[in-house]
Amino acid sequence: LILGSVADSLLELGEFGADRSGGVTREAWTPDLFAAYEWVGERMRALGLEVTVDPAGNLLGRWNVGNGGAVLVGSHLDTVPSGGRLDGALGVVGALHAVARLQEVGFTPARPVWIVAFMDEEGTRFGASYPGSRAFAGEDITRYGEFHDADGVTLAEAMSAHGYDLARAAEATRIGDVRAFLELHIEQGPVLEAEGKQIGVVTAIVGQRDYRLQLRGQANHAGTTPMRLRYDAFVGAARIALGLRDYARAQAGVTANVGRVTVLPGGSNVIPGFVELTIDLRAPKVASAAAAEQAVERLVAGVAREEGLEADLEQTSAADPLELDPDLVEMVEQVASGEGASTLRMPSGAGHDAMVIGRRVPAAMIFVPSVGAISHSPDEHTHPADLERGVQVLAAALRQTAS
Ligand SMILES: [Zn+2]
Repeated sequence: LILGSVADSLLELGEFGADRSGGVTREAWTPDLFAAYEWVGERMRALGLEVTVDPAGNLLGRWNVGNGGAVLVGSHLDTVPSGGRLDGALGVVGALHAVARLQEVGFTPARPVWIVAFMDEEGTRFGASYPGSRAFAGEDITRYGEFHDADGVTLAEAMSAHGYDLARAAEATRIGDVRAFLELHIEQGPVLEAEGKQIGVVTAIVGQRDYRLQLRGQANHAGTTPMRLRYDAFVGAARIALGLRDYARAQAGVTANVGRVTVLPGGSNVIPGFVELTIDLRAPKVASAAAAEQAVERLVAGVAREEGLEADLEQTSAADPLELDPDLVEMVEQVASGEGASTLRMPSGAGHDAMVIGRRVPAAMIFVPSVGAISHSPDEHTHPADLERGVQVLAAALRQTAS
């Protein structure tokens, strides 16, 4: 299978899960995601890689050459609902192209090179945080088993529908055989474009806390219940969303997002007696993450008290900010310059599997510019020349790390 341009490969891969919005919907543990695995797997085999899907659902293509710990290179193939063709896919397609280019020039790595697509990086379907890379890194993910999607299907059920057993996910642990991890990704933000730089060299990844908040008030008649006697769960939720926005605006680099809200019973003439909502909170430093965590708890408790609501705040995941490996950061910067690219050191405001893997082994991330800073959208775009440059830098970094 001959690989054309990087942009062409991404277009082809984007057919799996292509939706009516013009975007891609390829959520975790769905037939569309496994069809994408099949497409990538075929190309891995064509490069002579040994292809497996591990017990946690991670796609692996192993170039079994050399000795010692492997260089792991890749990203993810799952998307958010109506996402773009690039988020995650670029890192996997880029790894395929990088390996192909190294083979073309007759480079033989001194150590194994493994291409990976981690399962469920986005976490949108079940609300589980990086279950694929966590299992790979040796963390217990069975606690996510009862997490469920919008249709009530649990992660454990979704896995078993594809012939996988969550209880065996620990068998996916392979971090001990890995020496370093490289991930190419779109920036998903405005910085590279604004600064006119071609390659972002990622120095740190922001920490993230996810919450599920349930507010219980009292459903009642919208007309006969006086305003002062209402226990309106939605009003509480709205106040919390505004409070989070105001808090985050006042902190350096902190973001807060309420992305999913369920209002029950959901009648236009009924006071909302119950609300469930999600909170996504991010911070660039360990100290600011801890402070933001306390602020959420204070805010929820305060609003619940004032509105007469019962609040149940559950932290569904927590990841501290991660500083990436300084030696790899410098290496990426150097090889990028060697390829004639302009570079910028920058933190990543989005979470990535590199955050999980980078706690165990040295990790580096390479960013290419996102046109208009748009991501998690059908309009996600990076100029073809920037895609090629990113893969060129990834190949050079891979060559360096695997020598
Ligand atoms: Zn991604």
